[in-house]
Amino acid sequence: MGTAFGSGIDRVMQRSRQFDELQIRMRACRACLEAGHSVEPPAVTQGKVDARIMTIGQAPGITEVEAGRPFNAGSGKRLFEWLAKAGIDEEWFRATQYMSSVTKCYPGRIEGGNGDRVPSRAEQKLCRPFLNEELALVNPALIIPIGRLAIELFFPKGKKLNEIVGTEMEVDGRWIVPLAHPSGASRWHQIEENRILIDNAIELIAKQFARIKPI
Ligand code: SF4
Repeated sequence: MGTAFGSGIDRVMQRSRQFDELQIRMRACRACLEAGHSVEPPAVTQGKVDARIMTIGQAPGITEVEAGRPFNAGSGKRLFEWLAKAGIDEEWFRATQYMSSVTKCYPGRIEGGNGDRVPSRAEQKLCRPFLNEELALVNPALIIPIGRLAIELFFPKGKKLNEIVGTEMEVDGRWIVPLAHPSGASRWHQIEENRILIDNAIELIAKQFARIKPI
């Protein structure tokens, strides 16, 4: 019995070590730069390996890099206002759950335009092994993809956000509840009928939160 208990602790410690080692590798990664993409490392993620909920955004912005945490500024404020309606506290969430993104480094500004550049397919492909490792190690019961790029990891490309936000899907025993991107630059969540869809998504998150009871 003592051996089984001991091996259980060994597994927990090994998982924790692998997670810490993954965080170090992600922050040291320069694969996009070496392939000629203009990203600004280091990778930005936040949270714990034993999280039950994982958010996946698009990519960090410059304020996220400066603060060293995802969804740091205006979009984070709006995201946690939405999640608060599901009973989720920001401080608790950041300290105990896990926040990542499709690509982990700041992609820089759009050349000659406004806003941040959307990571290219090539960058997404380069970063995908990290996301796979995060999902395997954290093994979240609930995934919240935020914004189109993250949503398209799970839902068919080309489907309108209106058809997806406010729905949920089970994949390999994990529940996926997509959210629109809360960025102030996005008009989508400011449209009245879309706000209803976000409210529906928050209701689904509240239901999953009650089911998982991660506290
Ligand atoms: S975005 Fe991902 S693959 Fe590209 S340099 Fe950053 S961590 Fe590495």
